[in-house]
Formats: sequence, C-alpha cells, structure tokens
Amino acid sequence: MIHRSDAQGFGVNSTFDVIVVGSGIGGLVTATQLAAKGAKVLVLEKYIIPGGSAGYFQREEYRFDVGASMIFGFGQKGTTNLLTRALAAVGVSQETIPDPVQVHYHLPNGLDIKVHRDYRRFLRHLITYFPDEKKGVKQFYNRCWGVFNCLNQIELLSLEEPSYLMRVFLRNPFACFGLLRNLPLNAGDVARRYIKDPLLLKFIDMECYCWSAVPAQMTPMINAGMVFSDRHYGGVNYPKGGVGQIAEKLVKGLTEIGGQIQYNAKVKQIITDKGQAIGVELANGKSYYARRIVSNATRWDTFEKLLPQIELPVTEKKWQEAYEKSPSFLSIHLGVKAEVLPPGTECHHILLLEWDEMRVPEGTIFVSIPTLLDPSLAPNGYHIIHSFTPDLINHWSGLTDAEYQEKKEAAAWRILARLETLFPGLEAGLDYMEVGTPRSHRRFLGRVDGTYGPIPRKKLPGLLKMPFNRTVIPGLYCVGDSTFPGQGLNAVAFSGFACAHRIAADLRLKQV
Ligand SMILES: Cc1cc2nc3c(=O)[nH]c(=O)nc-3n(C[C@H](O)[C@H](O)[C@H](O)COP(=O)(O)OP(=O)(O)OC[C@H]3O[C@@H](n4cnc5c(N)ncnc54)[C@H](O)[C@@H]3O)c2cc1C
Repeated sequence: MIHRSDAQGFGVNSTFDVIVVGSGIGGLVTATQLAAKGAKVLVLEKYIIPGGSAGYFQREEYRFDVGASMIFGFGQKGTTNLLTRALAAVGVSQETIPDPVQVHYHLPNGLDIKVHRDYRRFLRHLITYFPDEKKGVKQFYNRCWGVFNCLNQIELLSLEEPSYLMRVFLRNPFACFGLLRNLPLNAGDVARRYIKDPLLLKFIDMECYCWSAVPAQMTPMINAGMVFSDRHYGGVNYPKGGVGQIAEKLVKGLTEIGGQIQYNAKVKQIITDKGQAIGVELANGKSYYARRIVSNATRWDTFEKLLPQIELPVTEKKWQEAYEKSPSFLSIHLGVKAEVLPPGTECHHILLLEWDEMRVPEGTIFVSIPTLLDPSLAPNGYHIIHSFTPDLINHWSGLTDAEYQEKKEAAAWRILARLETLFPGLEAGLDYMEVGTPRSHRRFLGRVDGTYGPIPRKKLPGLLKMPFNRTVIPGLYCVGDSTFPGQGLNAVAFSGFACAHRIAADLRLKQV
C-alpha cells in the first residue's frame, strides 16, 4: 500500500499511484512517462495485446496493422519526434524505415500527386498542376512551416501546467506568440488567404481530410502545420516489424522499470468516492485503487459507460455539442501476389472519383502497403494491402449473421473493383482477405460506434475547444485522441506526454 497524501489530499492507501485504463499509444505514453518519473503504474487493457488502433493481428504468415500505418513522430531531431522520445524515456528504441513519399493521391480532375519527402520536390510537383498558383502554394505551405517551427522549438508538455507555460514563454516568446496566433485558426481559412483556384482548394481539403476526417475549413491550423511540415522534416517512417512494435516496445520499457500491465482486463467502472475517482472495477469483479486514474478510452466511453454513477458533467455536454463522432471504417486486409503491384508503387495511396464524395462511405479509399517498406510482414513473393474507407455503424446494425457476412463480402468486392484500377490483376492475385466493419472496430478497439475520433460538428475556432487531460472529476484524467490535440499516433503521444506531466505535478513527482 502507498501511504502518501498529495496536494489535494486524496488517493491515500492506494496500491498504485496511477492506473491507466487502456493501452493505446496515448495510454502507454502516459504510463511510461509516469513510471520513468518514479510513479507506481498499472495499465489495464481489455484486449489481449497492447496498441489499440495502433495494434496488429497475425493471420497465416501475414502481419497486418489494424489501423495506423503512416507514422509521424519518429524523427531524430527537434522536439516534435514524440514517439522516438517516448521510447527513449524508458530505455527502448525502434528501428524505422523511411518512406520516400508520404502519400500518392489519385484524385478527380486527373490530379495524380505524390507528396515527396523532399519538400522542394513536392512543391515543384504540385505547382506543375497549378502553375498560376505558384506563389499561393508556397505561401500556404510556408505558413504551415511557420507553425511547425514554433512547435519544434518547445518541449511539448501540459498546457494545463502554469509553471511550464511560464518557463516555455520566457525561453521562446516568439514561438509562443506564433502558436497563440494560429491556435484559433483553421487551415482552410489560411489557405484561402493565399490560394484562389477552387481545384487547388479542393486538393487542400483532401490533404486535411485524410487525417483530420474533416475538410480544411474545419481542420485546426496547428495540426495542419504539424502534419504538412513534419512529413518533410522528421518524415514518415515505418516501424520495422510492423506498427504493433511501438506499443510492444513501450510495454517492454514500462515493465522493465517496474510498471505493470494486465491484458484481458476490461474496466467496467471507474470507482468514485465523494465525487473523486479513486479506483476501477474490472468486468471480472476485481478492483484496484490508485491516487490518480487515467482513461485512454474515448471521452464518450469514459463518461457515458465507465461512470454510470455520475450524471454527464456540463463540460462534457458542451464538448459533445461542439464535437461529434467521426464515422468508423470498413477495412479490408489483403495478402496478394507481389506481381500485382506495378513497379514503383508507393506505400500509401488515396483514391477519390468525385470531389463531393470525399466524406461519404466508400467515397475516399485509403490504401497502405507496408510490405513495400518492410517485406518481413508477408511471405516471400507476397504483399499485404490494407484498404479502408469511412463507414457508419448504423449501416451494419440489425443484420442477421448471414446478412452481415453477405454485406461484408459485397462491400469488399466493391472496394477491390476500385483498387483493381491501380493494381490490375488484383483479384487474380488474391491470396488472403479479411474484412472489418465499424462493428469490428467497436469490438476490437473498444471505441464507441467504432469511431475514428471526434470531429467538429460545425466550424470551430481551431483547437480552442479541444479539452486537455484534466476532467471535472477530481483524480480522473483523459488521454488519447479525444483530448488535445486529436487523432494520430504522434498527436496522442503528445496527449500522453501532457497527461503524465500534469499528473506528475499533481502528485509532486520529480519531473525528469
Ligand atoms: C483504420 C485507421 C487508420 C489509421 N491510420 C493512421 C495513420 O496512418 N497514422 C496515424 O498516425 N494515425 C492513424 N490512425 C489514428 C490512430 O491510430 C489513433 O488516433 C490512435 O492510435 C488512437 O490512440 P489512443 O491512445 O487514443 O487510443 P486507442 O488506440 O483507441 O486505444 C485505446 C485502448 O483502450 C482500450 N480500452 C478501451 N476501453 C477499455 C476498458 N473499458 N478497459 C480496458 N481497456 C479499454 C482499448 O482496447 C484500446 O487498446 C488510424 C486509425 C484507424 C482506425
């Protein structure tokens, strides 16, 4: 038992300093950061492996990423390389393979655009499609660099910690002013200051949509600055052995410094006492207590499922009024013969036939072929392809088993027909296929409706409405993609650094 009280005087007699519910990258970064600062940490994961949306599954000799494959945050310089830093903090590292092209777009109006790792090469390529917008293109993307350069000068920790804010401000006043200026802005408004061509603005919409799940007008400028610059700075780098390695390495680091993790440990409820979070009860009836509780489940799951004893707080109601659940995905995991891929095929592709279908189910098709970077994920002579497209849980509800299987099969063949245009002979070269629906995402990733994460209901002032890690329930924190700054592995790692930093201050742990 730990017999210590803290600044707020609660959580005494707990077995752990901190319990983290969920082992997504946000949860694991929080846990490892806190363990590195000397906290006694327990992570409880309902599934059999760590990683959540950054997990993997093995079928035959194929190792598939369940979600994320385009990985930022593995750079070697600056401060925004948060995955590299999170691993190093607990004495582990991850070999990565640089991706020379972030994404190859196949868009309407014949836009066949590759985002080269080399910034100048990307700009030259883009400008060949929009020669009259040469100046605007440069101004917009340079403006994104301005944001990134500010972020990349400062240590990315908790914006809820006043002494850190003061320190950062005194050391980097210009960077802080730069960020403050951009915090309430959206990328679409900034783009419109420099760019007039409606087709180029549609391209910028897709540049944003493919990771923010909303068009540029609703995508915070801070996030756009980060993504549109870091892809040319730290770059997109694939973890050798698959994306699942990141979580596994974080767990290795965590346990080697004394932290604990349990799998098959579904938290049924967060236990409160006099309104304060003091522990968790598992579905198997066991309870654990800690001075602080962190939820890596989405905010909807946290407040609507894990706290049945508490009425939805006003702050969460307001958050839900501002943000809604983005759609989930229909995911197709394929094993294919190598000859199906034309020479020079890139790892990541985005396909769209009609601009006004960008956000509709089966409109935008995402494709990742990680074996082009790491062939060890498939048998010799074969590749894995992960293709996914937005889809809604209610399209898959109320079906009999037979109807569900039939619908999955039909949807998969529609996607395959679209992919056949890129990879002629795909159907003939198919060796393995597995289809996941929004129901699979809900079940295996533990995310309400299988959602990819929160998206603004309407245009909001940049990131200003996104909640930080503390909640109105004393002792309870949230981490992951429904906290600042949003979706993506590097973003949730930021959320994890911030959450651990705030908790360390609350528990008066030594900040290392
Ligand atoms: C198809 C797809 C493609 C993507 N592509 C990319 C990409 O290319 N690049 C990128 O950077 N990002 C990508 N993302 C987004 C990225 O994967 C997520 O934003 C990020 O992984 C979310 O991390 P998280 O920490 O919020 O938690 P999650 O990954 O949601 O993990 C939460 C964990 O908590 C566990 N959990 C939930 N409830 C409980 C409970 N009650 N008890 C115990 N455990 C619980 C879950 O099982 C899960 O392991 C993609 C996502 C998807 C779905």
